[in-house]
Amino acid sequence: MEKRIPAVGIDLGTSFSCVGVYQNGKVDIIANDQGNRTTPSYVAFTSTGRLIGDGAKSQVTMNAVNTVFDAKRLIGRMYNDESVIVNSKHWPFKVVDVENKPKVEVEYKGEMKRFTPEEISSMVLVKMKKTAEAYLGVPVTDAVITVPAYFNNAQREATKDAALIAGLHVLRIVNEPTAAALAFGLEKTISGERNVMVFDLGGGTLDVSVVTVDGGSVFEVLSTAGDTLLGGEDFDNLMVVHFVEEFKRKYGKNLRGNSRSLRRLKAACERAKRILSSSSETSLELDALYEGIDFYSKISRVTFETLCSNLFFKTLIPVRKALLDAELEPSQIHEILLVGGSSRIPKIQQMLQDFMGGKVLNRSMNIDEAVAYGAAVQAAILKGERSGMVKDVLLVDVTPFSLGIETAGGFMDKVIDCNTKIPAAASKTFTTFYNNQPGVTVRVFAGEWAMTKDNSIVGTFELNGIPASLCGVPQIEVNFDIDANGIVNVTARDKTTGKSNQITVSKIKLSPDELIRMKNEAMRYLEEDELEGRRVECKNHLESYLIYVQRGAQLASGVLDVDEIKALSLVCSETFSWLDHNSGASLVELEAKLKEVQLTCSPLIEMMQDASKCLTFSTLHF
Ligand code: ADP
Ligand code: MG
Repeated sequence: MEKRIPAVGIDLGTSFSCVGVYQNGKVDIIANDQGNRTTPSYVAFTSTGRLIGDGAKSQVTMNAVNTVFDAKRLIGRMYNDESVIVNSKHWPFKVVDVENKPKVEVEYKGEMKRFTPEEISSMVLVKMKKTAEAYLGVPVTDAVITVPAYFNNAQREATKDAALIAGLHVLRIVNEPTAAALAFGLEKTISGERNVMVFDLGGGTLDVSVVTVDGGSVFEVLSTAGDTLLGGEDFDNLMVVHFVEEFKRKYGKNLRGNSRSLRRLKAACERAKRILSSSSETSLELDALYEGIDFYSKISRVTFETLCSNLFFKTLIPVRKALLDAELEPSQIHEILLVGGSSRIPKIQQMLQDFMGGKVLNRSMNIDEAVAYGAAVQAAILKGERSGMVKDVLLVDVTPFSLGIETAGGFMDKVIDCNTKIPAAASKTFTTFYNNQPGVTVRVFAGEWAMTKDNSIVGTFELNGIPASLCGVPQIEVNFDIDANGIVNVTARDKTTGKSNQITVSKIKLSPDELIRMKNEAMRYLEEDELEGRRVECKNHLESYLIYVQRGAQLASGVLDVDEIKALSLVCSETFSWLDHNSGASLVELEAKLKEVQLTCSPLIEMMQDASKCLTFSTLHF
C-alpha cells in the first residue's frame, strides 16, 4: 500500500502548544527536542539569535522585554480592542500600534524589530512542525490546527495566515473542545448517545461545549460558549497584584518599575499557583527581587481562591449558556470532560461539580494533550484515513455565534443563528432606506444582542450602482456562507442589476503581499536559526578546545619545557579574553579563530599526545 505522509494535529495554545499524529492505528503525541510533550508558546529574541519554546521560556526573566508569549491573545484583534489594551498592561514586552494593528516590538540582533501576532504564532508553529518532522523523518506540510470555539472570523483567518507563514497547509481549523470530545469519544467504547460537556480552561481562554457522541463515532456539537479573556494567566496576574501590594506595604517600594522583577514575580506566582492545586500552602523565595531586597512570602490555597473568586465564578457563565443553548439540564449531561491546565484548580472543579448537580467530573483524559489528540484524529480523517479507530467517524461542528447585518436604527438582523451546524449557508433580502439611494453599506456583525453596538463588527463593504428607485423597491440579497473552518463569507447582490460585492472578511486581515513577505522572512529566520546553531556549536568547540589545551598544559610539565607551557597558557588566556569581548562573533570569525588556535597549539598538542601514555603512567606512579 502507498505510504501517505501523515498530516499532523496542532493545538496552538496561548501558553503551551502540542502536536500529535495518527499513525498505525493510534495517536502519538510527539515530544520536542527537550523531551517535553507540550512546548511553551514562547519566542525569544536575543542579540545573537532566536529561541522558540522551552529555550525561550527558560530565559524569560533575563530577557523579559524581548520574550514574546500570549500571541494568541493578540492574533486577529485590533490595537484599540479593549482586551489588547488590558493585556498590554501585564506584558513585559512592548505592543505598538501600526495602523490599528498590534505588533510586538523587540530587539533582535541589536536591531529594533516589529512582528505581527501572526508572525509570532508562525514561529511557534514552525517549532511544532519541526518537532513532528524530527519524529516522522519526513517533511510535514498538512495540518489541522485548533482554535478556541469562540474565535471569530478575524482570529481564525489570522491563525490560518500564521500557518501559511510557517509553510503549513491548513486542512482545517477545528474548535478545541470539539477536538477534545473527539479524543474522548475515540478513547472510550461508547454505546448509545451520550451528551458530553467539555470544559477547557487554559492559559488565556475558557471554552465550554456540549457535544453528543453517538456510539463513539458520530460527534455533533450542540452548543459552544466561552470567554476569550479568562484563563490561568489572569489568576497569575491577580496573584502578582497581591504580592506587589504586599511588597509595597513591607518595603514602601513599587516593583512594577522593573520589568525583570515583575517577570520573576510572575513566574514565581505561576509556580505557586500550580503547587496550590495539590497543596494547601506554598512559599515564594525571590532573592534580590527589587533594589537588592530579598522577598520571601507565603500564600495559602484559601487566599488564592479568595483573590480569584470573581474570576472562578465567571467560569460558570459559559457553562450555563452552553447548557441553555443545547437545551439540556445539568442532569442530562453524561460526562464532563476537564481539559486545559487550569482545570486542575480544585476550587474550579468543585464549583463546576456543584453547578452540575454533583456529577463526578471525568478526569480520564490527558488534560494537556486531549486537544492535539483530537486534532491529529481529524487530520487523519481529512487525509482519507479510513482504518482503525477513525473509521466511520463523522464530525459535525457548529458556529459559536449568530451572524447578521445592521439595519436602519442600529438593529442586528440575524441571518445565521448561533450553534447552526457548519458548513452552512443562508440568505436574506434587504432593501434601501430612502428614495434613489445609490448604494448600501453592508455592516456584518457577530453576536447575540439585538443592537449591533453590543455585538462585534466582522467587516463592512459597499454595494453601489443601485438604479434610482423608490425606497423599499430594490431587492438586495445578502448571502452568508460559513465553511467547515468556521470562516464566513458574505456576498450582497442587487437582484435587478445582478451586481454583487463580497466582504473583505476582516479589516485587519493581512494582504497577500504582506503574507508573502512574512513567509520569505520566516524562511530567512529559519536559515539564520541554523546559522546561529552552528555558530554556538563552533563557539562551544573553541571553548572546549581551549579548556583541553589548558588542562593539558597543566599536566605537561616534564614533557614540555617551561616556555612552551607558557606559550600555550598565553594563547588560551588571550583567546578566552577575545571570546569575552566578542560574544557576538560570527561563525566565520569563530571558525578562523579556532583554526588559528589549533595551528598554534597543534604541534604542542601532538607532543602531549605522544607523551600521553607516559604521562598517564607517571601520574599513576606518582
Ligand atoms: P493553553 O491551551 O491556553 O495554552 P494550557 O491548557 O496548556 O493552556 O494551560 C496552561 C495554563 O494552565 C497555564 O496558565 C498554567 O499556569 C495552568 N496550569 C498548569 N498546571 C496547573 C496546575 N497544576 N494548577 C493550576 N493551573 C495550572
Ligand atoms: Mg488549550
